[in-house]
Amino acid sequence: MPEPSSHETSDPPDALPGAAPGLVLVSTPIGNLGDLSPRAANALREADLLLCEDTRTSATLLRAAGIARRAEALHDHNEAAMVPRVLARLRDGARVALISDAGTPLISDPGFRLVRAAIEAGVAVSAVPGPNAALMALTLSGLPPYPFLFLGFLPPKHAARIAAIERLRAAEAAGLQATLILHEAPHRLGETLADLAETLGDRPACVARELTKRFEEVRRGGLAALADGYRAEAPRGEITVVVGPGEAASLGGEAVDDLLRKAMEGRSVKEAVELVAASTGVARREVYRRAVEMKK
Ligand code: SAM
Repeated sequence: MPEPSSHETSDPPDALPGAAPGLVLVSTPIGNLGDLSPRAANALREADLLLCEDTRTSATLLRAAGIARRAEALHDHNEAAMVPRVLARLRDGARVALISDAGTPLISDPGFRLVRAAIEAGVAVSAVPGPNAALMALTLSGLPPYPFLFLGFLPPKHAARIAAIERLRAAEAAGLQATLILHEAPHRLGETLADLAETLGDRPACVARELTKRFEEVRRGGLAALADGYRAEAPRGEITVVVGPGEAASLGGEAVDDLLRKAMEGRSVKEAVELVAASTGVARREVYRRAVEMKK
């Protein structure tokens, strides 16, 4: 029977990737336990092996969902050692479910090494999608939803953080124009917002705090004003920051010529022009005109 188009049908809730052998990445709540989906709960119940980040955190979730089972820890410190063991189980046909402390596994959370190893071993990998703080903050921010760049946590120390933001600014000068999303700890929020304002300029931003929880708060405003507010009164809880994109970079002619020269090494003029126009936002016609000049 031909596969129906996605417009024709939705699969019933029991059509579970969790019921087939392989690795399934299961998203769990970022605060509100009511956000554990029925498919997620089923995948946790049905798995032969359940892997989590912190066994105590997961025990709370499992208890609340009425799932009487224990999970084994897979975290940054034991992932390399665990991968061969888990792969052996997967090769034997086991269903392995991976959760993290909150939200979507791998997103600022462990699991990447396991997923890559499973893919390389030819094991089926699927996911039960669900809560994710970064995407929820992005959708609530009122800032352009795409393209976006998810940065995870910036370095905690001031000098390294400034260096990381400088690299972003350099990428923007070369044409990157994206909404930025980052995680931050409450006690660092004020200084990080101030560093962003100082290095990137006073852009529109949004601080999303305690999403899906009792004290959920979304504050929108300029980076500098948000920084002042949170420096005056340190917030509590879990925080995701969204920063609007910079203005389109207005590259000087010389910078465009430099990029073109490099792009034309090993590429046709047409390909080089496409590449430079796409990466800088400079009009294709203008880039082409410069390429023709350079060829002369
Ligand atoms: N895997 C998670 C996800 O998919 O959202 C993210 C895990 S990361 C280790 C934890 C960070 O995510 C927190 O420090 C905070 O920056 C952000 N975060 C998690 N839950 C949040 C919430 N309820 N509200 C706002 N930010 C949250």
